[in-house]
Amino acid sequence: MTADTKEPPGGSKPARAEERPPASAPERLPALAPGLYIVATPIGNLRDITFRAVDTLAAADIIACEDTRVTAKLLTAHDVATAMTPYHEHNAAKVRPKLLARLKAGGAIALVSDAGTPLISDPGYKLVREAAQAGIAVIAIPGPSATLAALAVAGLPTDRFLFAGFLAPRGGARRAALQPLASVEVTLVFFESARRLAGSLADMAAILGPRPAAIARELTKRYEEIRRGRLDELAGHYRVAGVPRGEVVIVVGPPDAAHAAPDLDALLRLALAEMSLRDAAASVSAATGQP
Ligand code: SAM
Repeated sequence: MTADTKEPPGGSKPARAEERPPASAPERLPALAPGLYIVATPIGNLRDITFRAVDTLAAADIIACEDTRVTAKLLTAHDVATAMTPYHEHNAAKVRPKLLARLKAGGAIALVSDAGTPLISDPGYKLVREAAQAGIAVIAIPGPSATLAALAVAGLPTDRFLFAGFLAPRGGARRAALQPLASVEVTLVFFESARRLAGSLADMAAILGPRPAAIARELTKRYEEIRRGRLDELAGHYRVAGVPRGEVVIVVGPPDAAHAAPDLDALLRLALAEMSLRDAAASVSAATGQP
């Protein structure tokens, strides 16, 4: 098992884009055509943002964001003064019609999430769908993505991959969700909370087998770390080391013939730590499809 750690240039400190003219200077910005702009923002280092993203945020009529406090830090770092409105999973049903009405009236709205590419395990799918259905232009302003950043540094095959998002938080449901992925012959990418990392890795090791994997932690931030090893080694490491700090992406290499079958003994041992023998047998049977 190996680990790369480093302090990237620029660290995690908010950095100002001093080399560029202020993006909020209205005379420097061409008017934005009406539409919904899906703007990717940094996943840590505030300098990881494209010129076009800053220009779009500065020229938009309004920025729809998950948390105005988080987005305010980004806007301040890049001298953008555009007004914000919250759009998150708790208010989306109420706010979406208002945003759509504004778009239909010819507005230019930028949608951002707290970090990375909106819609990728973040809000926005229904807004994009309904905007498109209403004939409104939807424009991608691509940029950072924790999924792609992790995949790019994992050292695992990248020709085909499956982004599996967040797994269910609990053991039984998590194992059931992993089971159909065991036969998928591509690299797998998961988001996971640091708190659940060791448990998820143990379930992955049991169901997917001892495949090569990588944990990409705190990407683009001061304590960025890439830890590579087999799933069982990584599970053992985090069981002993405890909950790591920060955010993590798990990348798991595709199966080879030796790792294709689920390890029923390991699965039963995991399940028995949480439940009775009868329930453990039922849970493993449900997760694997084995009698
Ligand atoms: N839409 C975002 C994107 O495109 O990167 C992802 C949002 S999702 C709600 C948040 C998850 O992304 C975290 O739980 C973690 O798994 C991953 N993540 C985000 N930033 C990260 C970072 N700097 N390093 C590692 N993982 C990160």
